[in-house]
Amino acid sequence: MQRINIGELRNHIGEQVQIQGFLQTLRDQKKMQFLIVRDLTGLVQTAFWKANDLELADKISTLTAETIVKITGTVVDNPIVKLGGLEIQLETLQVEGPAESPLALDPFAETIPSIDFRLDWRYLDMRRPQVAAIFQVQTTAELAFREYWHQHQFMEIHSPKLMGSPSESGAELFEVQYFETKAYLAQSPQFYKQMAMAAGFERIFEIGPVFRADPSFTSRHMTEFTGIDSEISYIDSHEDVMVYLENMLQYVYQRVKEVHNEQINEMFGVDLVVPATPFPRIPMSQAVEILKAEGYQLPPEKKGDIDPGGERKLADWVKKNYDHDFFYLTDWPIAVRPFYHMRHADRPELTRSFDLIAGGTEIVTGAQREHRYDVLAKQALEKGLSLESIQFYLDFFRYGCPPHGGFGMGLSRLLMVMLNLPNIREAVFLFRGPNRLNP
Ligand code: ATP
Repeated sequence: MQRINIGELRNHIGEQVQIQGFLQTLRDQKKMQFLIVRDLTGLVQTAFWKANDLELADKISTLTAETIVKITGTVVDNPIVKLGGLEIQLETLQVEGPAESPLALDPFAETIPSIDFRLDWRYLDMRRPQVAAIFQVQTTAELAFREYWHQHQFMEIHSPKLMGSPSESGAELFEVQYFETKAYLAQSPQFYKQMAMAAGFERIFEIGPVFRADPSFTSRHMTEFTGIDSEISYIDSHEDVMVYLENMLQYVYQRVKEVHNEQINEMFGVDLVVPATPFPRIPMSQAVEILKAEGYQLPPEKKGDIDPGGERKLADWVKKNYDHDFFYLTDWPIAVRPFYHMRHADRPELTRSFDLIAGGTEIVTGAQREHRYDVLAKQALEKGLSLESIQFYLDFFRYGCPPHGGFGMGLSRLLMVMLNLPNIREAVFLFRGPNRLNP
């Protein structure tokens, strides 16, 4: 017999069906037994008259919570049943995966344990529908990105994560033994995205792992995360990248809302708003003035940069003045941007770059890149880089490379903002941080 999803049982009233899933609760009464069974699509009550088969009734009495069961029975419409108004009258039951008791973590306990304990027993924690929903939304969001790219003639690349030289600066770099030599785990696909521009690929994207040896314990950093990266050619400035990004995000939010609106509302208490375009744009110089006027003190060591508190303060200001949850912070000073960001011709102390702040959190950094060999080499030297170590990258710009730009976005940061989750550890399948390499 074919397995039927619990969520589809209403289409099978009066039929004999087979379901498979977790035994969430067993109510063992004098004459009847009620088994609440769960699969990814929902919960159903199955009922058994003990008198029908005392041996089977005894077996049911011994079942532990979260045991995997295969049940056959007849679906009946029963308006008294709270769970969806239907019931399966149990005929056969087979145990397919017994669960030890007590559970190391009870997904349906009244109080949710600490996040660290939950991460230790992540697969049990993920049995809660609220957790599974995060990854259902993520699946739709990723598909929507790919739909958008496909509609706009983008090519997908998969760049190597083992590198012979660092892709950014020496900081936050994981070094690994590579036979007789050393390799580095890619901190971003930056160099290879640009190589694709030099190859004439014009519009590319990559969704892949990014490694950062960042020892911090914030609610938005991981040592390994999934990056959504893209690069486009023949742009006039970073404005073209911002327009592309905001249109794509609007599409992604629209698709997620179409598929998950109710689920998101119910499980996360979020009324998903599809962002209007264009997003407000605030040059960094103005942002600093706004923060001053709002009485927010930027930490002095953050000169030219904005700390997370400042980002949140600006987000409040944008909400008040533009009624928008997204905004671009543009034209960052060269001191806080990498050497490959293009600078303004008339304001060489500023880069043609942006961050996207969503729900008060940075989720994207982007820029127009410097594609002129001499200027790029000069900027690298100014930042103290040795040209030798990045010569393979500089070579990309020797034989004709179109003007281009792009961005990098953290997938889990996006999910965290979209679903208003308090911590990035909630928004990722398995968290990796300075103190966590398991499970
Ligand atoms: P932050 O200032 O928050 O540390 P960053 O400026 O180092 O981020 P970028 O190098 O610009 O980040 O990376 C682009 C995007 O990748 C970020 O906007 C963010 O969405 C994501 N990202 C960066 N670092 C991390 C991290 N350690 N964990 C999770 N996501 C990250």
